[in-house]
Parts: sequence; structure tokens; C-alpha cells
Amino acid sequence: MAYRTTLDFDFDEPLHCSDCDWRGPAGDAMDFFDALIDVRCPSCDKKLGGLYMFPTADEVRREAAAGNPRAIVELGSVEKQDERLHRAQAAELSQLGQLRDVPGRRSFIVRWDLEEHDDDKWVILRVRRREIGRELGYWEGLERFRAVAELLARRYPGRVRELRPDSGEATTYLLGDRLAWCDGIEKINAQTFPPSTSVRLAEPVLRLLRR
Ligand SMILES: [Zn+2]
Repeated sequence: MAYRTTLDFDFDEPLHCSDCDWRGPAGDAMDFFDALIDVRCPSCDKKLGGLYMFPTADEVRREAAAGNPRAIVELGSVEKQDERLHRAQAAELSQLGQLRDVPGRRSFIVRWDLEEHDDDKWVILRVRRREIGRELGYWEGLERFRAVAELLARRYPGRVRELRPDSGEATTYLLGDRLAWCDGIEKINAQTFPPSTSVRLAEPVLRLLRR
């Protein structure tokens, strides 16, 4: 293997920092990044060990087959995650025909609701409380948000004003821990549903006429 994975990480390995004299088990010196663990002194940040990547599903399977006890423990959750991923991919909205008609010609806001059904998280798209489509939710699923926004723009040309997460939970689920994404929802909306002058002028005018 070109690099080590966390399956090889020995949490109990005694470490000593020559700079600040910290002593402790490797498990106390783990620095977590996106897809790896770095081993650094918890007191002065000196590098004490190598990098450990989180294993892929295939690596866990291979190591489990080879008898690695930690891989055997992780195998169950890996298979579960894999199965969920396949189910979510199969449920992704990708065809215009999967989105229901919205009668009339008026523009509208599409709500992105996050709901628990059948022990799983679903994204339910609604227009004026009526469901127009659904798919399984992804943690940190901002890329799906973009893909769905683009599908909506093609399905209802010129009519969608905004795709809006309907709760704090829906927003948290989209952005996760990614601070860099904080304005991602606004950006995707601005790029996918640019406000056209006709919509902006027509709506207030129509409202006045209806009075
Ligand atoms: Zn140190």
C-alpha cells in the first residue's frame, strides 16, 4: 500500500514530543482533516507521525478479508453506507418527467423540505405546499441542490424564483461543517434563477391589478 489507512492506526502507541516533552497515546494526538488523520503533538503541534487516510469501502473489504480485526468491525457500517449511497443515487431526480406539473403560468418559489420517512431522510420539493418531487437527502449535499436547481430551471423555464431550504435542519444538512459553503445556497440561486425584469415587474403589477 502506498499510504497507510486508519485501519493500521495504533491508538495505544506511546508517543513522546521532543520539543515540549508531552507524552501520551497516539489516540490523543490525532488531528482530523477531511479524509485523513495527521499525528501531531496536542500541546505544541509538532508532527509526531505519518498521515493516515480514511479507507475506501474496497480497502475495508480487502483488509477484512485479510483478517484485519478493525476492518472486520467496520465492514458492517461500510456495507450499510454503500447500500444507502446506491439507493440514494437510484432515487436522484434526473428526468424532467419526474417533476409534476405546476398549473398556471405564474412564477413560484420551490421549497426544499427535509423529512424523515421510512427511517431515512428525504428531500421533498414543494410548490405552495404541494409536492412536485422527492429524492433521498445527502449530508453536505450542496452539489445535489445545484443539480436539482438546474433540473427545476429546465422543467419550469422562467417560472422558478428560488429554491429555498425550508428549515434550519434542511440548511444544516446541505452545508454540514463546510464553512466555505455558507453562501452556496444564495450563489446557486443567483446563478440558476437570475431575476428577469419581466418577473420582477410583472408580479407587483399583477398584484395591483387584482386588488
Ligand atoms: Zn509538543
